[in-house]
Amino acid sequence: EPQAAYLGLDFGTSGARAIVIDDRDGVLHSEKVDYGDAEEAAGSASVWRDALFSLLGGIPSEVTSNLRAICLDGTSSTSLLVDRETWSIESRPLLYNFAARPDVVARVTAVAPEGSITRSPTSTLCKLFTWLYEDSVELTDRLLLVHQADWLASLLLERPSARGVSDYNNALKLGYDPEIGGYPDWMLSQAWQSALPAQVLAPSTPIGPVSRDVSSRYGIPSDCQVAAGTTDSIAAFLAAGASSPGEAVTSLGSTLAIKVLSEARVDKVESGVYSHKLWGDLWLAGGASNTGGAVLRKFFTDEEVRELTQRIDPNAPAGLGYYPLVKPGERFPVADDELKPKLEPRPADDAVFLQGILEGIADIEARCFALLVEEGCTPVSRVLTCGGGSKNQKWTEMRRRRLGVEVEAAAEVEAAFGSARLARRSVAGE
Ligand code: ADP
Repeated sequence: EPQAAYLGLDFGTSGARAIVIDDRDGVLHSEKVDYGDAEEAAGSASVWRDALFSLLGGIPSEVTSNLRAICLDGTSSTSLLVDRETWSIESRPLLYNFAARPDVVARVTAVAPEGSITRSPTSTLCKLFTWLYEDSVELTDRLLLVHQADWLASLLLERPSARGVSDYNNALKLGYDPEIGGYPDWMLSQAWQSALPAQVLAPSTPIGPVSRDVSSRYGIPSDCQVAAGTTDSIAAFLAAGASSPGEAVTSLGSTLAIKVLSEARVDKVESGVYSHKLWGDLWLAGGASNTGGAVLRKFFTDEEVRELTQRIDPNAPAGLGYYPLVKPGERFPVADDELKPKLEPRPADDAVFLQGILEGIADIEARCFALLVEEGCTPVSRVLTCGGGSKNQKWTEMRRRRLGVEVEAAAEVEAAFGSARLARRSVAGE
């Protein structure tokens, strides 16, 4: 029996990556291609398409011949318009970080209720309004909005659905409500509702087999499934290895981001806390603080952090009560645009100062988890960590004491690995 293989494809901010895994999380193949140096490359649909086919072509034939499923992730709210009949591109792609003009946002605010995620200038609905009202794309019944991941998946399918196929996670910033399993009434009464993807699936739901052309060109079995995808940050979460309610992932990069698998949906718009639906009754609740490693870099080089860390005794807390921020303003656990950093008094010993900052960040992390649980999230039982701060063992020990649960490094950090897991889930369950 040949070894089954599952392909995950991640379309991130600077490039795309393919990872093929087997049934036991073994990596059979991994390759990254960059979009290129040209400024417009990352926002070009043809560059994404070329990256997709270049990655498929790079997989060794003994691996492609065993592929059972493929799943893709893209950057959240990156999208474009196509013609649902001819599949021709009908708008410029707008990227995840594109913020709509204030007059365009005002048009969304005029129809979207308070608290709707669509009111954010980077929401996918604000992008649809940008095409309609700023770019003057004519609204016809043939116009269909596709997310980056939907569009790339469609290139692998025989005949893309004219109704449009997306997933809960990519569609959230468009206004789709996975709780009711559809778009809210205020959206369905608008003329432009015809452009919304009509079939929105749980990530990892099989959509259909690869096209005959893709199958023959790349030596992929004709029954290899293409599965509904997700966003790059959710794929990265899934890579870390969390699988049961209560398992969490903290990203300790320039900023602090937390995500928890939960049996209940948690939303707190003013703090930027919201939940994505995965499948069944499983939700992914998350939020981000402005604290994080960027504060460390304000005072120390990474090398200095490493050296000073050696002198820290996690059993003797500095207890300085810091609230480390680079500049005033916080979202979560407190929503306060003017919250001031607290990094004083500064002790004479830099190792103690560093310890105070690391403790301050750990305190904020603990408050974030506590607040999510207060709002109804499944209590946190285990925390996996990724990002630059995850390599610091002493800090991990400090966080373990503060959080009162197991804290370990993430098993994998590549989003493509998470998408490969979704591919496997689509055919093998998990
Ligand atoms: P991002 O991708 O968010 O910019 P990374 O995941 O690359 O960030 O992590 C970089 C952060 O990790 C920096 O802000 C740096 O301060 C922090 N960092 C690097 N080394 C250490 C260390 N040994 N201990 C704690 N933090 C560290």
